[in-house]
Amino acid sequence: MYDVTATIYEGMTVYKNKPEKQPKFNTVTNGYVTETRMELDVHTGTHVDAPLHMVVDGDTFESVSLESLVGQSKLFDLTGVEDGITKADLEKFDIEKDDFILLKTKNSFEEEFNFDFIYLTKDGAEYLAEIGVRGVGIDTLGIERSQEGHPTHKTLFGNNIIIIEGLRFKEIEQGEYFMVAAPLKIEGTDASPARVLLFEGLK
Ligand SMILES: [Zn+2]
Repeated sequence: MYDVTATIYEGMTVYKNKPEKQPKFNTVTNGYVTETRMELDVHTGTHVDAPLHMVVDGDTFESVSLESLVGQSKLFDLTGVEDGITKADLEKFDIEKDDFILLKTKNSFEEEFNFDFIYLTKDGAEYLAEIGVRGVGIDTLGIERSQEGHPTHKTLFGNNIIIIEGLRFKEIEQGEYFMVAAPLKIEGTDASPARVLLFEGLK
């Protein structure tokens, strides 16, 4: 079993290093009972996006079905890509309808936020939509960057493709894994943090 989840702590890597995106823990103790209150952006660390994130009046988090987050997945090694992952990069792999694909990039080897992070381009997203994948996961805190109008998010959401961001694949080799992506069971939001596990040899 591989845990491909980012650890949540104060001072962790957050999107564009924005201080307001840092998680906050407030621990109160009376000497024998201790309770921590946590303030957390729903896009903190490893998380699943809902359409509302980028689509006006889009569906909220409870529309993301657990069935689509649990099952076989294919992890592809894209660590050689230097900028955006394009259709040409993805065509080299065996991608089929209903696959949940995981994109391992150079980002998995960086602990600090990299403003030039590797992302999925519009034509890469369109290619995945054409095939009809179930979902796509990436090891960056954003699946796209520097594309006006967020066409990657919109293409994926518009085709009911689930997006998981902030995964950590440093130790994981290309291959097929049984994935359990378990977000919090929350309603009404545009994302949720998730624990994501990959199992080897499980069908
Ligand atoms: Zn997000």
